[in-house]
Amino acid sequence: MSAPAPLTAPFDFDVLATAGAARAGVFVTPHGAVETPAFMPVGTLATVKSLDPDELRAAGVEMLLANAYHLSQRPGQALVRDLGGLHRFMGWDRPILTDSGGFQVFSLATLRTVREEGVEFRSHVDGATLHFTPESVMRLERDLGADVIMQFDHVIPGQSEAAAARDASERSLRWLARCRREFARLQEERPTLDAAPLPQALFPILQGGVHAELRREAATAITGMDDWPGFGIGGLSVGEPKPDMYAMLEVVDAALPRGRPRYLMGVGFPEDLVEGVRRGVDLFDCVAPTRMGRNGTVFTADGRLNVKRAELRSDPRPLDPDCGCPTCRRFSRAYLRHLYVTDEMLGMRLLSLHNVHFLVSLMRTARQAVLGGTFDGWSDDWLQRYHSSRPDASR
Ligand SMILES: [Zn+2]
Repeated sequence: MSAPAPLTAPFDFDVLATAGAARAGVFVTPHGAVETPAFMPVGTLATVKSLDPDELRAAGVEMLLANAYHLSQRPGQALVRDLGGLHRFMGWDRPILTDSGGFQVFSLATLRTVREEGVEFRSHVDGATLHFTPESVMRLERDLGADVIMQFDHVIPGQSEAAAARDASERSLRWLARCRREFARLQEERPTLDAAPLPQALFPILQGGVHAELRREAATAITGMDDWPGFGIGGLSVGEPKPDMYAMLEVVDAALPRGRPRYLMGVGFPEDLVEGVRRGVDLFDCVAPTRMGRNGTVFTADGRLNVKRAELRSDPRPLDPDCGCPTCRRFSRAYLRHLYVTDEMLGMRLLSLHNVHFLVSLMRTARQAVLGGTFDGWSDDWLQRYHSSRPDASR
């Protein structure tokens, strides 16, 4: 395969090393570089729940995600735009990606009507009738001002039959063409004559459910439409068996250009990250680390650990002896269990911080293994230990 054309400045993506399909790269955005593979924590409402930007930075987070749909409801896109955009609003000066809202419209909303023009649905906040179209979502994501913005797509339940998956995938392609036109128009727009341009990268989303043929067709249609700066892989980790997800990633890996970042949307369990990197994925996001942290569950190299367990009542060990996060450096399982069962706010914060740190560090370690030529052995060993051990057992 010939070398890919460079991305339009200020964006850039370089693959520095590979190990099979796995890649170690650098994705450059207007707000800085992201070393890939990378995990992006989710700040749904412009906050990664309970963690402030300094803590995220110290945990090694380089890029995070916010949800356009949620922010359109509260506080509203005009307010964020008028206060200087999402980076300034939330005090995060590094790269941000916004999800277009497709997933939320199709998962949270009730009384949805899908037409070719767009989707009519009720707000999950106040029940108001809302209309999202590819054009309105491009405007929304421009107002928010993230570095990477996602197309508006038609999301269907996981494991949908081929006919429904095809219908949604083909509509997503038509909507992509409309997103692309509107995105190009908005790129030319300046709020005032002397305002600097706002460079953004638009990523298409590759749908197709668990149907290999649909995934291949979507990849062909999407790559035939434009030389995109990166690709979202949607509609996975939505209830299908893991082997199906991994098989689809292999199909997608073969079908997408290698010189562009691939972002596997909504996938964030540690084992899925390692399996995804093995299959050529560069970026991941998920609410799992913070949501599970708030529910008292943490990731460790030996699998998941529930801090509510009675055995931890007097356990002096850290959550994960090999973790370098502030939670593990300072606090025992016994203390964290105590905070959790007494409903202390600090407990949820410390568990969320550990989980985010764990995933960010896992991707940094995977990257080092690709760069160092040890990725195959490292990932085999890591997966075996994660799946076979019991973190609550004494070691
Ligand atoms: Zn930790």
